[in-house]
Amino acid sequence: MTDLLLTGIGRLVTNGGPSLPEAAVAIENGRIAYAGTEGDAPSQGSGQHIDCQGRAVIPGFVDAHTHLVFAGDRADEFTHRLAGADYTGGGILSTVAATRAASEDDLFREAAGRALRMIAAGTTTVEVKTGYGLELEAEQKLLRVAHRLADELPIGVRTTFLGAHTIPPEYQRDPNGYVDSIVEEMLPAVAPDADYCDVFVEEGAFTVDQARRVLEAAATHGLSARVHAEQLSHSGGARLAAELGAASADHLDRATEDDADALAGAGVSAVLTPGASYSLRKPQAPGPMLLDHGVNVALATDCNPGTSYFESMGLVISLASVLMGLTVDQAVFAATRGGALSLGLDDHGILEPGAVGDVVILDAPSETHLAYRPATNLVWKTIKAGVVVAG
Ligand SMILES: [Zn+2]
Repeated sequence: MTDLLLTGIGRLVTNGGPSLPEAAVAIENGRIAYAGTEGDAPSQGSGQHIDCQGRAVIPGFVDAHTHLVFAGDRADEFTHRLAGADYTGGGILSTVAATRAASEDDLFREAAGRALRMIAAGTTTVEVKTGYGLELEAEQKLLRVAHRLADELPIGVRTTFLGAHTIPPEYQRDPNGYVDSIVEEMLPAVAPDADYCDVFVEEGAFTVDQARRVLEAAATHGLSARVHAEQLSHSGGARLAAELGAASADHLDRATEDDADALAGAGVSAVLTPGASYSLRKPQAPGPMLLDHGVNVALATDCNPGTSYFESMGLVISLASVLMGLTVDQAVFAATRGGALSLGLDDHGILEPGAVGDVVILDAPSETHLAYRPATNLVWKTIKAGVVVAG
């Protein structure tokens, strides 16, 4: 029984083979039952039918790196940067203060607004990090909000504990004491509610040795690693991610060819964030080089109030194509299948029988328009598990 049948697809991007003209997609019980040429499609049955009238269809976007739950904004910091100030990561603490002070309901309301705009722009799965609490109670509050987003909105959510985002005010003179509290107090308490553990490896944040301590402890609680690596300086985070067999190394603006070999050898995904490089006016990560070395590349918004207040994966695809040098096909793959693989979601980001029915219909004849018309939301309809949830 087909619940949803899409016909009249002018161009179908499945990520499982070449793009197809004149295609159809059928979804049953929330999963893809058919994706191929229209002539061989199953009959309509009694489910919903959408004639795409020549539009392009792609998998739903998987946004593999966000800091979606936060209070306030940092427009003033942005203004200072435009006037020449450098980003050092210190502004994170202003968001920590605002987020600690915010009620759980207010945090949910703000995050839900962002998530709904993401859904309207084609995102069907999002990774959500904590990291603006930096104390147990506040970090748990952020995790509860992330889970509430998954419960109440039509979007898949993967959660990441980022207690090691920066050193909180209470521990400015005792960074190792904060690492102790993460390892001894926070990780045992939050691990049941998180999928991953992340550390910001950077001058002024955490050293490689501190990160290793946190991530090895996280592994004993069943959490795989993600690492903020090589963003502002070359600090060794990518090598650490490879050493630990992390799920991902993220940012990688300053990654080297040796880093790429290490990541590829260890099967670590590279999650690239062109919006952050753009907002910070820094060079883009070496996406083409990482692909050449065989690394799975994912793209993400890095949605956060300091360095990348982006919600649109379409815009990220445009930046990755125009500024980073990926082809549009590579960028669309990275924004869908690449993100899914980095999150261990093997049945996401691909349109083949058995995969989840997360699909985007573009109001354009090809996915190239995502890069070519960056400031327009080209998503005609977002479909989550076979249900139209936007458009
Ligand atoms: Zn981040």
